[in-house]
Amino acid sequence: MEKGEGLGIHTVPLARLMPEVTGDDLRRVADAGVAIDQARTDDLLWKWEAGDRWSSFHMCVTEHHRGGDAYYLELEVESHSTKGARVIVATVNVVCWCREDHQFHDVAEVRHECEDGGAVADAFERTASQIIGWLKDTHDPVQLRTRVGLPSRAIP
Ligand SMILES: [Zn+2]
Repeated sequence: MEKGEGLGIHTVPLARLMPEVTGDDLRRVADAGVAIDQARTDDLLWKWEAGDRWSSFHMCVTEHHRGGDAYYLELEVESHSTKGARVIVATVNVVCWCREDHQFHDVAEVRHECEDGGAVADAFERTASQIIGWLKDTHDPVQLRTRVGLPSRAIP
């Protein structure tokens, strides 16, 4: 297995990680990744891993808020080992404040399974637009929990 990390999507070896994505499709993925980086407010860290028949890359915007609260925006692109498809998943998650501790809750999620390079480019562009929308939206865990009907402080 090989892995690496760097600042900015240009440090991710996209062509090697996703050999099914070529030409214009590869450029569309790279451009959408740059658009994500331009909207990010953190250090622009990306990480990737590659094995013989699989690969993945991801990024996570992490923000710590008052009182042990936290906001996470994650993007993961990975090969699907059983189907030969590529899966793109993006989530916003926040700390759980329920009476029963679930640790974290996804308050938003998009997920695409892509069968070929064109589908990967389409799905990555759509996911990037969603991520940019989330980055421009509130990062306040209290507001995000309230929006989906979750409690925001420990119930005594
Ligand atoms: Zn909970």
